[in-house]
Amino acid sequence: MSVELEAQLESLTEESLAKGLEVFRHHLKDAEAGFLNACVRCGLCADSCHYHRAEPTLENVPGRKLDHITAVFKAHFTTMGRLAPGLVGAKRLDRDMARAWVDAVFGRCSLCGRCSINCTIGIPMPTLFRAARRALGAMGLVPEDLQATVDNSLRHGNNMAIEREEWVETVEWIEEELQAETGDPLARIPLDKQGARCLFTVNPREAKFFPLSLQASAKVFWAAGEDWTLASDAGWDLTNYALFTCEDDQAAAIVKNLTDAMTRLGCEVLVIGECGHGYQSARWMGPEWLKRAFPFPVVSILELMDQYLDAGRIEVDPTKNPHPVTLHDPCNLVRHGGISEPQRRVLRRAVANLVEMAPHGVENYCCGGGGGQLAMSRYRNRRLKAGRMKAEQIRATGAKMVAAPCHNCIDQLGELNKEYQLKVHIKTVAELVAAALVTPTPAEAQP
Ligand code: SF4
Ligand code: SF4
Repeated sequence: MSVELEAQLESLTEESLAKGLEVFRHHLKDAEAGFLNACVRCGLCADSCHYHRAEPTLENVPGRKLDHITAVFKAHFTTMGRLAPGLVGAKRLDRDMARAWVDAVFGRCSLCGRCSINCTIGIPMPTLFRAARRALGAMGLVPEDLQATVDNSLRHGNNMAIEREEWVETVEWIEEELQAETGDPLARIPLDKQGARCLFTVNPREAKFFPLSLQASAKVFWAAGEDWTLASDAGWDLTNYALFTCEDDQAAAIVKNLTDAMTRLGCEVLVIGECGHGYQSARWMGPEWLKRAFPFPVVSILELMDQYLDAGRIEVDPTKNPHPVTLHDPCNLVRHGGISEPQRRVLRRAVANLVEMAPHGVENYCCGGGGGQLAMSRYRNRRLKAGRMKAEQIRATGAKMVAAPCHNCIDQLGELNKEYQLKVHIKTVAELVAAALVTPTPAEAQP
């Protein structure tokens, strides 16, 4: 554990522990609390967790991680736990227990949810782990580098603290590349286009490290003749790391950047680029955080590309992607977000040979980069170790190309590529679609 976090643990007071407990109980709905007494210790969840598959220790069993939370709930909020703690396995929240919580819910969990769907009685593990993360936040025990990512979003409107000028220059530069690639001097990446049908949002990593990814999405929009725009001010970054710190007020402030940009620009559809947690945050959690339904649809660019192909708005030639391609399923997009088929329909058309991993879809294994793990440097070695399942899945397909519709996953898969010497290329789905496009003439492409 880092020096900062250890110092914070050492300085915990009775007041901060009480605050943590209060937040924990306040945010736990009764139906969720009921599950804290439900584990029958069958152990069936063990092999569903990539941490346990990579390192089969007791600490990595999901049910064991849950035990720490259950013990505290019983001690503080049940009669038997107060009267006979030893009898029911109740333990009070103290410094050691807080340390165990940090290790279990931040250090050994990516909130992937695979244990839940394989649990004998369907205990919603991520929900309960989130309640614990939220309580740790109230005690100042969120790992500082994860919190720094959230703070960047709150201060700068994007998680990498990219200044507006740099963002605008990057977009203009990518637009020039798009024009060169398409041969169409009128191909645009519109910024702040008032009344555009779609507001497109991206992961800041595209601006910093993966400009080809944004260029590919722009090329697809160009080919489809879409009426779209990016925002130049806050509202272009789709990420929301407060989903992982579980601070709902901060999550609400971050997602409000997107709804404000929709209002400011008068757009009809909010389009989320390829990002698992960004989709989960905007589509499902956003209305909950802001306590109101959004007056516009939120769609993934994967759904949009699927619609374009279906409607004949774009045409692809799979022979342009002739080699076997496998598809990674980001947990927040597929298991939590419900987007599993659009990307498959798209890839079946855009590549010659789609080879599925086993298992895939909602039963996919987490790559290890979710839940904010990529932002918590202290757990790097565990994260890479826990990614072994995903590495083995990829290797078993024989594919040398991995489509990964999430930039967080792409980062983790890139590290796994080196760690496990997979020798694969990793691309977004839009990059593969852009490569397969049978492009219209510039005149045909104008909206
Ligand atoms: S949510 Fe995922 S990472 Fe966390 S304990 Fe369950 S299977 Fe393991
Ligand atoms: S599968 Fe469910 S009931 Fe069984 S040990 Fe795991 S959490 Fe408990």
